[in-house]
Amino acid sequence: MERNIKDLVQQMTLEEKAGMCSGLDFWHLKGVERLGIPSIMVTDGPHGLRKQDSSADHLGLTSSVPATCFPSAAGLASSWDTELARQVGVALGEECQAEDVAVLLGPGVNIKRSPLGGRNFEYFSEDPLLSTQMATAHIQGVQSQGVGTSLKHFAVNNQEERRMSIDAVVDERTLREIYLASFEGAVKDAQPWTVMCSYNKVNGTYAGENEWLLTDILKDEWGHEGLVVSDWGAVNERADALAAGLELEMPASGGIGERKVIDAVESGTLPMDKLDLAVERLLTLILKAVDHKKEGASYDKEEHHQLARKVASESMVLLKNEAGLLPLKRKGSIAIVGAFARKPRFQGGGSSHINPTKVDDILDEMTQVAGDGVTISYAPGYRIEEDDVDETLLQEAVQAAQAADTAVVFVGLPDRYESEGYDRAHLRLPDNHIRLIEKVAKVQSRVVVVLSNGSPVEMPWLPQVQAVLEAYLGGQAVGGAIADLLYGEVNPSGKLAETFPAKLSHNPSYLNFPGEADRVDYREGIFVGYRYYDKKELEPLFPFGYGLSYTAFEYSDLQVDRTALTDLDEVQVQVRVTNTGERAGKEIVQLYVRDVESTVIRPDRELKAFAKVALEAGESKIVHFTLNKRSFAYYNVDMKDWHVETGEFEIQLGSSSRDIRMQTRVSVESTATFIPTYTRNSTLGDIQQDPANKKLLEQVLKQFQEASGFGGGDDSGDNDHADMMNAMMKYMPLRALVAFSGGAMTEEAMNQLLDQMNHKDHGIRG
Ligand code: BGC
Repeated sequence: MERNIKDLVQQMTLEEKAGMCSGLDFWHLKGVERLGIPSIMVTDGPHGLRKQDSSADHLGLTSSVPATCFPSAAGLASSWDTELARQVGVALGEECQAEDVAVLLGPGVNIKRSPLGGRNFEYFSEDPLLSTQMATAHIQGVQSQGVGTSLKHFAVNNQEERRMSIDAVVDERTLREIYLASFEGAVKDAQPWTVMCSYNKVNGTYAGENEWLLTDILKDEWGHEGLVVSDWGAVNERADALAAGLELEMPASGGIGERKVIDAVESGTLPMDKLDLAVERLLTLILKAVDHKKEGASYDKEEHHQLARKVASESMVLLKNEAGLLPLKRKGSIAIVGAFARKPRFQGGGSSHINPTKVDDILDEMTQVAGDGVTISYAPGYRIEEDDVDETLLQEAVQAAQAADTAVVFVGLPDRYESEGYDRAHLRLPDNHIRLIEKVAKVQSRVVVVLSNGSPVEMPWLPQVQAVLEAYLGGQAVGGAIADLLYGEVNPSGKLAETFPAKLSHNPSYLNFPGEADRVDYREGIFVGYRYYDKKELEPLFPFGYGLSYTAFEYSDLQVDRTALTDLDEVQVQVRVTNTGERAGKEIVQLYVRDVESTVIRPDRELKAFAKVALEAGESKIVHFTLNKRSFAYYNVDMKDWHVETGEFEIQLGSSSRDIRMQTRVSVESTATFIPTYTRNSTLGDIQQDPANKKLLEQVLKQFQEASGFGGGDDSGDNDHADMMNAMMKYMPLRALVAFSGGAMTEEAMNQLLDQMNHKDHGIRG
């Protein structure tokens, strides 16, 4: 229905306007009854609906209406399948419509800086491109159903420790290339109805009061049309937050927030225009939700459960498979050990914790998929509630494993190990899980370990087992998905969206995580995840992009449609991928770019595109990619823009970040004109980068050398000496010429030279 939002705002009183900028209660926005503006409901997110009926809380403590629990983002991202993420979004949107929920609070795109992050299970990746593309698809799916999303937590919320007070100190290039980039694509391409600001400070200012983040970047630069909502309780000073661009405070603050806004407007510190703009965005959101409401909507629970099963089977990652142990044969005997087989760990703790419509029992699903030809025994092996080893349970499990042809061991991280609100203390499995693996492996050579965890674990026991399946937090259909994969009903196709380090101390954030008191310095800069392990030549346990299949793929015919381009052009890349094995499968083709030579510090490779391709046995397909300026650029903080340095770039096509199968090169020419400002402290070397300046300087240097005897060689004609002096002079500031020239070069002459260099039109090409 057409309504004039500006007119509506004009009809509202100051109290009504200020009132709308804070929630009505825990999950509702305020409406304005007399103007026919209803209250709407928002609910967590991200991988299932957590609509609470009573006694609301935001930590997942009280129960909510039944909803489908899909694999959490760590798993979903490992599918590298944007179409699947969109389908999950559509299903979530349908459930929201059925439950009268207007906005789903997700997805979360914070970068996994440390594997200790308590909430990593809820985030996609250590890589911004993969994160933002999965989030884009998820948002598009939900919003196609007329339901809003909330892209969260903006920004730099990469740890739980002191999350409400920590100051994340990050340089701008790192912010732009890593931490903001994971939001940027999703904002630009999917326009989430809302963006949720995080609790923490970013470079000294609360995210919720950070005008640079919320207005300059999010609204002005990226063009976000929706509104910014606070994380629950993230508002520090309500009026400052509103001025910075935070339209909606959640949850209700008992009238405190609105009072502060009214006072600020009345005292003239907050312009009415600013409040009006916020209310316009709020009204737009509410009316959009009203217009898209589907009365009497419902959804098919079984269909969504089947989708959850499909997503889970596409997301799990086969990490090891020696001697073709998997897929399991449908004959003989199997011992299933580990209490997770009966009480699976399938979701994480905190605000994303939902009440599933049903949960697969792994043992039942394994029995069903195995069929009558397989004898299955079960032993719990450990108690989920504790870490201590129960010798009786352990012995029973060992005996079952010994008596069977193969043992499948279900282990991972119990609920208490990872949750919103606190970080993990280490990367180890619980002691009783480790002992179970080790003991079983002593009596049984055919051991498959199935891991249920939201983020990486160390695996000192890896050499002792033949196969490992990383099931992540697989959602409510986890059992069926595991059975499908282990018995080969589905060919594994997930690949890691994060590096599994050999040990925690290898992680780049290790020395600065979680920081000191209320401050954490991101000193590793852009070297997050594989960007670091590659540059440091550190062998990870399993690299980014890694995952096995029951078939094999070959890459051939890598082609680019041009080998020389400018940064305004696109380049088309294609590669042929062939399934050379005997069963159908899916390959995730990853495209990385390396700047061959650069004056700035850059990673060895960065993911710039990917595609998941389904291939029948023997089938071959051509996969296409398009690269543009951003694929080659780094963020130049002086230019305040993305910049491509003229030169050669390597395009690498790989099956993982450590398994590059083919590569080619293109040369890209920058069209940027960047004129640096020279000062008396600019070095001679930097000045000489510009050919015009080089000429100007040559004359001056000649005079200087004659007068000072400094540089340019000596009478002995010793070339080595001359080279050394020239090399040293490269790093000399211009002002040193004045000091060392014994009067041959004056301050005035230097200033004249600077004027000439700074005022003539001689833009250098990047
Ligand atoms: C979480 C958000 C969540 C909100 C509402 C907060 O504690 O950080 O992700 O959406 O609560 O439950």
